[in-house]
Amino acid sequence: MITNRQLFLSHQAQTSDAPLMLEIERAEGIYLYAPNGKKYIDLISGIGVSSVGHRHPAVTAAIKEQVDKYLHLMVYGEIVQSPQVKLAKALCETLPSSLDNVYFVNSGTEAIEGAIKLAKRYTGKAELISFENSYHGSSHGALSINGSEFFKQAYRPLLPGVRHIRLNNFEDLAFINAQTAAVIVETVQGEAGVRIPQTEFLKSLIVACKENGALLILDEIQSGFGRTGAFWAFEKYGVVPDIIVAAKGMGGGMPIGAFISSKEIMGTLAHSPYLGHITTFGGHPVSCAASLATLSILKDGNYIEKIERKSQLFMQLLIHPKIKEIRNAGLMLAAEFDSYEVLKPIIDAAIEKGVLTDWFLYCNNSMRIAPPLVITEDEIKTSCDIILSCLN
Ligand code: PMP
Repeated sequence: MITNRQLFLSHQAQTSDAPLMLEIERAEGIYLYAPNGKKYIDLISGIGVSSVGHRHPAVTAAIKEQVDKYLHLMVYGEIVQSPQVKLAKALCETLPSSLDNVYFVNSGTEAIEGAIKLAKRYTGKAELISFENSYHGSSHGALSINGSEFFKQAYRPLLPGVRHIRLNNFEDLAFINAQTAAVIVETVQGEAGVRIPQTEFLKSLIVACKENGALLILDEIQSGFGRTGAFWAFEKYGVVPDIIVAAKGMGGGMPIGAFISSKEIMGTLAHSPYLGHITTFGGHPVSCAASLATLSILKDGNYIEKIERKSQLFMQLLIHPKIKEIRNAGLMLAAEFDSYEVLKPIIDAAIEKGVLTDWFLYCNNSMRIAPPLVITEDEIKTSCDIILSCLN
């Protein structure tokens, strides 16, 4: 009989010559289960997605309830659908009053595309500034603003008028000028290996944007929905962006993304031309129902307030001569080793011992630690014991 692994290699498009190839039959909470019953602690949450744990009962209940009412009805923005409007209202309630209008899409990269188009349309300008080592997605617009030439070179030409500046480099803010439509920054850089902007830098960035009539777009696709110990990572910085972008953890395991702005800015998508941004499936009612349940779990439970303590526990436990540094923003952590060659066998050994982790797209000497936010302190201790046992 042909195995699922054989089918995976023969008929499913591959993105590398070395896929992880773990076969998973079932997932629950922080655990993934293989067909042979082997259990893995998921220390990366499907890359920052399963923040409330796999198959949280409130999320699956919301999905089932919506499945029994309706699935897709109509392209985005034509029909009033209760899961969409309830979620839009709930999202706006988590944000400053100027961010009161939500456009739903299906993924992170689509949310970035929408945000870029919105900034161009609203400002009437075309130039974009983003950051070295930033990651915003894989579609053409998002790829254009990504800060890694390695992943872009084969796909040029990309969007013109894009400049990359250095995070926390105040001099580079001088590149923001009257032609700049938007500056796009991850509130915490994820794929760069958890790199954190200085508060003063973000404050100066927003001033430079305002002085030049450029919009500030914060990419909270990885850092939002509680990941860093605040509902949105930008809350800690005392800055308010013009557009915020979310996805990943937002859907509690279902695909959904959003770009959120003011009604005034967002209104430009509705005229000259009308239908300025359209999508068939954006804000799928089942995904919206799952997202609303996820938002309620995070808002009503006391998970977010415990994140800093959990983050500190990882910092205290993961002490070893081979770990050179740990960078953390809540439960977004990067444990740095000397090189990929040192790290890769450790990751392989950890998987063998039942802890799933990986490295970062632009930072392959650092181990990604981004567990479901519901992980307990005991589970953190078990995970760290296993990781440490792989270092010796
Ligand atoms: N922005 C950031 C900060 C991300 O981490 C990601 C995904 N890793 C994206 C955008 C793209 O999201 P998606 O994969 O859903 O398109």
